Amino acid sequence: SEGISQPDAPVALEATESGDLFSKFDPLIKQRSDLLASGVEDPFNLVMEKVLSPTRAVCNGRDTILLGTYNYMGMTFDPDVIQAGKDALDNYGSGTTGSRVLNGTYQGHKECEEALKEFYAMDHAMVFSTGYQANLGIISTIAGKGDYIVLDIDSHASIWDGCSLGNAEIVPFRHNDIEALEKRLKRIPEGAGKLVVLEGVYSMLGDIAPLKEMIAVSKAHGAMVLVDEAHSMGFIGPNGRGVAEDQGCLDDVDFVIGTFSKSVGTVGGFCVSNHPKFEIMRLVCRPYVFTASLPPSVVATAATSIRKLMHGGNKRAHLWENSKTLHGGLTKLGFTLGTTEPQSAIVAVIMPDLQRGAAMWEALLKEGLYVNLARPPATPANMTLLRCSLCAEHSAEEVETILGMFERAGKAVGII
Ligand code: PMP
Repeated sequence: SEGISQPDAPVALEATESGDLFSKFDPLIKQRSDLLASGVEDPFNLVMEKVLSPTRAVCNGRDTILLGTYNYMGMTFDPDVIQAGKDALDNYGSGTTGSRVLNGTYQGHKECEEALKEFYAMDHAMVFSTGYQANLGIISTIAGKGDYIVLDIDSHASIWDGCSLGNAEIVPFRHNDIEALEKRLKRIPEGAGKLVVLEGVYSMLGDIAPLKEMIAVSKAHGAMVLVDEAHSMGFIGPNGRGVAEDQGCLDDVDFVIGTFSKSVGTVGGFCVSNHPKFEIMRLVCRPYVFTASLPPSVVATAATSIRKLMHGGNKRAHLWENSKTLHGGLTKLGFTLGTTEPQSAIVAVIMPDLQRGAAMWEALLKEGLYVNLARPPATPANMTLLRCSLCAEHSAEEVETILGMFERAGKAVGII
């Protein structure tokens, strides 16, 4: 579920005599087997045998601090959230077995949408089965034939896939470059429909977008704006509504996309909007119509979590402290980070190459620390990253412990 610049579909370089459709994956299979042959633990096959809390799990028999989840607000073990899920299982059963437009809308789905409308102070909310599907559905449905989608080149895979699913013209621009966005908008033929797609936080480097300026430019050129706030919900902004709220431009955003799989602590996706005709989406958006709705226990946990996140001010403040301490500490140790200042709960440590990145990842795991190893094509500019994502439930002491682990591992691998 990682961000991807341009989804690089593997291409068959030459037709194979066998006709084996899998031969296009040979280069990737070789890269993986070479990496594993070097003796490192498989970074993409970690199993959590036990999950003890939002910040601790047992991995390979070892008690491990989790610094590579999207559990930003630590809601997965919230007692009220868990109770809501259990009650819904008891009262509504394990699943809906149907689409939202047939037999798949229960009271819980409506309550979840009510919670979202209140959380964002918006008129409409539509819950999807994942955030991936929310982007896929909304983008491909609202931008049709003859319309233009202008999007940041570092957009998440689900945004690119939403573009592929629809029939609009796709116009990418350089990451976070306001002038490049304006230049693209100027070139679009007069009268064509335009959708600008941005993210609040870009999840690979943890940097935020200059939304205020970008939205102003978009509006000046008559474009509608969609912002994916997957990594900011619950944390960034006075009410946790995201980067657009923080920069004072949420009123100018036409569509906010979000997910339940990060701060909310369960699974699901959504779109909120003030567009007066928004409800028609429920009939025309294929990734909403042609899939089963979320289980009752999932929407019950989501609604409870969203309502609690409205009052998460203290947790937000502590999470900012954690992000600043980790960012400052890693900089002081001599690591190269994705941003010069902490901008979100994601702190990306740039590795010199995949080999040393994998070695560092493994050294940290042996220290008892799980971080995320990210590599091309999921990363921008071919970077190998150790992505650290903090949680409001990490204690200040835990963050100090984490810095000690980075120091030992970094010296052992020869990165600092
Ligand atoms: N948008 C962004 C920016 C994301 O990072 C992700 C997930 N990593 C998604 C959308 C998809 O969310 P979900 O996990 O709910 O499918």
